[in-house]
Amino acid sequence: MASVTFAEVTKEYEGKRAVDRLSLDVEDGEFLVLVGPSGCGKSTTLRMLAGLEEATSGHIRIGDRDITRVAARDRDIAMVFQSYALYPHMSVYDNMAFALKVRKFASTEIERRVTSAAESLGISPLLKRKPGQLSGGQRQRVALGRAIVRDPAVFLLDEPLSNLDASLRVQTRAELSRLHARLGTTFIYVTHDQVEAMTMATRIAVLDQGILQQVGTPKELYDRPANRFVAGFIGSPAMNFLEMDARVAGESLVLDRDGLSLTLPAASNVLSRLAGRKRVLVGIRPEHIYDAAFPLADTRTIPATMTVELAEMAGSEVFLHLVSESTRLLARVDPRTSGVAGSELAIAIDADQLHLFDIETGERVATSPG
Ligand code: ADP
Ligand code: MG
Repeated sequence: MASVTFAEVTKEYEGKRAVDRLSLDVEDGEFLVLVGPSGCGKSTTLRMLAGLEEATSGHIRIGDRDITRVAARDRDIAMVFQSYALYPHMSVYDNMAFALKVRKFASTEIERRVTSAAESLGISPLLKRKPGQLSGGQRQRVALGRAIVRDPAVFLLDEPLSNLDASLRVQTRAELSRLHARLGTTFIYVTHDQVEAMTMATRIAVLDQGILQQVGTPKELYDRPANRFVAGFIGSPAMNFLEMDARVAGESLVLDRDGLSLTLPAASNVLSRLAGRKRVLVGIRPEHIYDAAFPLADTRTIPATMTVELAEMAGSEVFLHLVSESTRLLARVDPRTSGVAGSELAIAIDADQLHLFDIETGERVATSPG
């Protein structure tokens, strides 16, 4: 078990920065998820930690040990890749045993570790098979088993679920969380899928174009995104963004644009952070817009009326595409809504879930209520 530290780590390929001065502390026993769009530097970060790429500058530590220039095999980590990279001619048992044989473990110890890992992953009956005789989900478990038998200080996982179909992905997600709880080892998990990040992580680190945007618990990132990028990336469907004029009216903040006017009452905390801005980018999550007939109990709301352009029934919820002049909003509302295409609908927007961002920099200015 160990903590991991990135200190000002940069990786350049032909002068272009894939990872740009990354500083990040991963605590012992955490399930840290590194998330961001394709090409943002996630795999490069993990590969530098694994010793498969050399950092251009900066330092990486595992526990107290600086491993920046230590050979991959001496780092005490195990990595699971998206392509499971199993040896096709070897049995499941031999695939799982391979790294231990290379490291000259006694065969009784190898057998003990392989059978115990196979049991915990539910693949004991498959030990004699070859990878070609396994389903995708089974191969994924073998790849995990191969990492578990190493009993490493840190597990690295690079998009290990992307080759599985949707239902297996959901199931394996839960299994990985249980595995982490049982082993208590530090996990660093890379994915482009914010749902995986939100459901599994103890903390999430969001990367964009090689630059760390925010680190925090799933709830912190959802409730208080540090900037427009994180706000738009975390949460599904994505947050609505509207440029609006901001005006102070006594204790209230009035946000205006064509087709929509919102009065945020008792907004002193928000007002104190406006710093004279006359225009702001307002973020509203679809789940914080209600059909006014079905608001959430004990919620302060702001009323508005919009036209339903399209209603998408999804069973437990309805997605309403709302328009008013040039203003468009996506709302996720109660399935009992009367909103149908073409109808006028009274909506209620949660007054304590509005996010304000600086229009130029995209940095968070305030989140209501304070
Ligand atoms: P992610 O895993 O987040 O999708 P990567 O870490 O693989 O992103 O890549 C980050 C950036 O570095 C991308 O722009 C990619 O094209 C570039 N890159 C990655 N590996 C190499 C390489 N071996 N040579 C040149 N550029 C690379
Ligand atoms: Mg990658």
